[in-house]
Amino acid sequence: MKKQRRYTGSVHHDKIRSDLFESLHDDIVISVLCKLSSTASSPSDLISVLLTCKRLNKLGVHPLVLSKSCSKTVAVRAKTWCHEAHRFLKLCVNAGNSEAYYTLGMIRFYCLQNRASGASLLAKAAIRSHAPALYSLALIQFNGSGGMKNDKDLRAGVALCVRAASLGHIDALRELGHCFQDGYGVRKNIHEGRRLLVQANARELASVLRDNPLLSPSLATQIGNNDHQRPVLANSASDFDFGLFSDYGFSLTGREMHPVNKFMVEWFGFGSREDGTPGLGLRMCSYNECGRPETRKNEFRRCSGCGKVNYCSRGCQAHDWRAHHKMECAPMEEWMGHAINDVEEEGNMNGEDVVMEDRTVEIEES
Ligand SMILES: [Zn+2]
Ligand SMILES: [Zn+2]
Repeated sequence: MKKQRRYTGSVHHDKIRSDLFESLHDDIVISVLCKLSSTASSPSDLISVLLTCKRLNKLGVHPLVLSKSCSKTVAVRAKTWCHEAHRFLKLCVNAGNSEAYYTLGMIRFYCLQNRASGASLLAKAAIRSHAPALYSLALIQFNGSGGMKNDKDLRAGVALCVRAASLGHIDALRELGHCFQDGYGVRKNIHEGRRLLVQANARELASVLRDNPLLSPSLATQIGNNDHQRPVLANSASDFDFGLFSDYGFSLTGREMHPVNKFMVEWFGFGSREDGTPGLGLRMCSYNECGRPETRKNEFRRCSGCGKVNYCSRGCQAHDWRAHHKMECAPMEEWMGHAINDVEEEGNMNGEDVVMEDRTVEIEES
């Protein structure tokens, strides 16, 4: 009898709870779901809530909720890519979510090789001032990706980089610095190029300090003051930064990868998907946190130091140089020979010298 009473009580309690939820106005539930979608750490955080009940399933895909989704909420995985994942991204796109425009744009452009649709989605993200989309479009213009070599539009690339850099995109700022230094798509201005490179390095230093609380500002200042001890190139302000952290055991490469880059690395990773190859004779960007493939043969520029690695951009070259390549690239003497041979064999189309650390490495068109 007692048991019976307790049971009835529990049902009553559940009923009250359920009534409380039902009595909440849609706006309140939607606002809670908005908070969830803007702070989720993966798509499953939101999806698992949608599966709870009919009401949450309906309100969870409300355009207002999906429009607030952050990059991690739309961070679908390449290994589990399926029709439903594509549909989820499309719903977020229809809700006007910039991260979804960017994510689906990159996936369609590079992975599904639907260039027109991908580029159009990237452009829509760019119009909404999405800095990574602006930077990605800049690289597409610089490389003439999805088209022929003649489709390169350097001036458009520079304009997109300017916009991305003004929104705080560090790689775009660095790319722009190199463009000014080399006169690539813009009138050559070495002083302005160096100024932008120093600015990019300073911003990167600030982000490292932010992400590594153990590295105190005083220590950073100490490291910065040791600059004069390094054999840097004369008057080369751009060398102010790069080796400093590695000299002291700190790495600038611990930054978090954007989910889209993770997706592409996974998609084109060895054997992870049957359809995950860039195409016959096409190479991946050698920086292992980029994931961009070539869209035509010899699209990416290669390091003339060794001729073994290829990069979609100077930003990737700079990151890879610090992370791995400076230990692997051929020594200076060999490089001198290689560089001359390479120029003789293929011609250095743009004379692109990239000043990195205390040596100069060319990347050249092949
Ligand atoms: Zn790259
Ligand atoms: Zn090399």
